[in-house]
Amino acid sequence: MQNYGNRTLTLVRGEGNYLWDDSDRRYLDALSGIAVCGLGHCHPAVTQAIQEQANTLLHVSNLYNIPPQEQLAEKLVTLSGMDNVFFSNSGAEANEAAIKLARKLGNERGLACPKIIVTEGAFHGRTLATLTATGNPKVQQGFAPLPEGFLRVPYNDVAAIEKLVGKHDDIVAILVEPVQGEGGIRIPDADYLPRLRSLCDQQDWMLMLDEIQTANGRSGKLFAYQHHDGLLPDVVTTAKGLGNGVPIGACLARGKAAELFTAGAHGSTFGGNPLACRAALAVLETLENEWLIERAERLGTQLLDQLNSELAGCAHVKEIRGLGLLIGIELDRPCGELVELARNQGLLINVTAGNVVRLLPPLTLTDAESTLIATTVATLVRDFAQQAA
Ligand SMILES: *Cc1c(COP(=O)(O)O)cnc(C)c1O
Repeated sequence: MQNYGNRTLTLVRGEGNYLWDDSDRRYLDALSGIAVCGLGHCHPAVTQAIQEQANTLLHVSNLYNIPPQEQLAEKLVTLSGMDNVFFSNSGAEANEAAIKLARKLGNERGLACPKIIVTEGAFHGRTLATLTATGNPKVQQGFAPLPEGFLRVPYNDVAAIEKLVGKHDDIVAILVEPVQGEGGIRIPDADYLPRLRSLCDQQDWMLMLDEIQTANGRSGKLFAYQHHDGLLPDVVTTAKGLGNGVPIGACLARGKAAELFTAGAHGSTFGGNPLACRAALAVLETLENEWLIERAERLGTQLLDQLNSELAGCAHVKEIRGLGLLIGIELDRPCGELVELARNQGLLINVTAGNVVRLLPPLTLTDAESTLIATTVATLVRDFAQQAA
């Protein structure tokens, strides 16, 4: 189908922070398959885990106990402070599980149409429910009728949510990204999540965080909410970086939220299969063994500082933002052509929300590669700004 448009690059091989195309040209990867390959490409620990598991058992279905699934669940709840996990195959499906938890809670409360508060600029996936939760009209265009049950407010605006309190008595949850990824690396005020947490406590709503892009160490913590001491969501979803390229998603829940799915309430044929869980276990172990989360924090600051000094005073640059290795350079005009210009220099980057250069390099990035990314991107942005002038 034509949904991915015209693709002009064919990548055939990867190793560490580099990819090679079908003419054996090498590229430094500053995108990681959109925040997926956080350990770089073909990390030996993940490759070995996949090989061993492929020689042991690939699939049995969730009719049976699956030891790697139990081990992964144990590790995830320990590291996150949550209680229970549901495993899916993708981010959208992890969010579907979260949305179903909120619906289940609403139904238990006797609400005819329970509401979930979502934000402008959000991205939650492409299934019908998650594209409805998504705050980008282009993603929804042409897919009516959309499911009901979502209320939209501006991002980073607690007052807008407080205004809904008196108007609706059927709200059950807030679903929000700690940093908006597809929306342009939008970082909310430091007190945004804590204030949402207290509002949810006051109103008896669930705080549901979409950490599909931000988790797995990328923000400089395993989960971005861990930047706030003592703050825990009721539900958190992750996917992308969890399997380093093997498809897996997870919806974690705590307290009452963790008990909402009773036997038969939800399921997936492939979700939590032995192969994906072994890969994810290897990812979490490697993040720890190689101190990659600390590395993401340090290199993220370094890369942000380098970009800031290279681009200081550059016309058409509106803002440079980052949290760990989630970095965005917002320009005052559409800049999609920078993707190809960077590629011609042997660097893979992305432009999101039309005018934000997005950098999501592997957490295994070296200091020298960080400098190379900063100088290459800054030169491209400066040239682009000059031409636009
Ligand atoms: C990528 C992403 C999703 C969707 O994940 P898929 O695996 O593509 O379904 C949902 N939420 C956020 C924040 C994402 O970045």
